[in-house]
Amino acid sequence: MKQLCNAIAAVAALALLGASVGASSSGRPVVVLDPGHDLHANTETEPIGPGSSTQKIKDGGGTHGVVSGLREADLNLAVALRLRVLLEHAGIKVVMTRTRTAGTSIGNIARARIANRARALLFLRIHADGSTDPSVRGTHTLYPTYRRGWTDDVYAESKRAAGIVQRALRSSLGFPDRGLQERSDYTGFNWANVPVILVEMGFMTNPTEDRLLATGAYQRRAAVGLCRGTLQFLGRPVGACG
Ligand SMILES: [Zn+2]
Repeated sequence: MKQLCNAIAAVAALALLGASVGASSSGRPVVVLDPGHDLHANTETEPIGPGSSTQKIKDGGGTHGVVSGLREADLNLAVALRLRVLLEHAGIKVVMTRTRTAGTSIGNIARARIANRARALLFLRIHADGSTDPSVRGTHTLYPTYRRGWTDDVYAESKRAAGIVQRALRSSLGFPDRGLQERSDYTGFNWANVPVILVEMGFMTNPTEDRLLATGAYQRRAAVGLCRGTLQFLGRPVGACG
């Protein structure tokens, strides 16, 4: 009887362990993909972190292609949908914060809660940047600033993921390297209880990068780079990414 009890305890411990490291009920590791923005901006406000009195707009809306006219929300989703296929092929369970560009953007707390609920091993937020200066270009990756009570539990792993994913995405796209940036003011970072990064693939206000990112070939390059970075961060072989 004692042996049986030990066996049951061991199974229970394994189940707990599985739940705590981001494995889904099917046993596959979980990644949450968050294609930024949606068809409409959301001007409601929400606190930038748990218990904060500082309110920030939910979503001011994204940028758009200066040459292509492409909406950032559509580009972000196109890359995320390609990436989902690649990651699932590599045995990852993918949860999306949205699969269409059709409505009013959900807030950043809502996006973070999807990742928290999924116990994601990585909450990967996909964006493209804009600037008033059309010559500004390149790829960069953002991760949360260390703040006790908000991001202390995810800071180190987020920073590690940012470095790995930035390197893989940059080498796949071939755009200039704008490096990494810590942000304390991103609501979606401060509410996340799982490692979180936000990639800015390139600048849609730069004619060169806009033209390229509007093509299926470069959207595929972005997805392959993000797939390699994600799998490398998870300690898995990247060969499945193509
Ligand atoms: Zn954006």
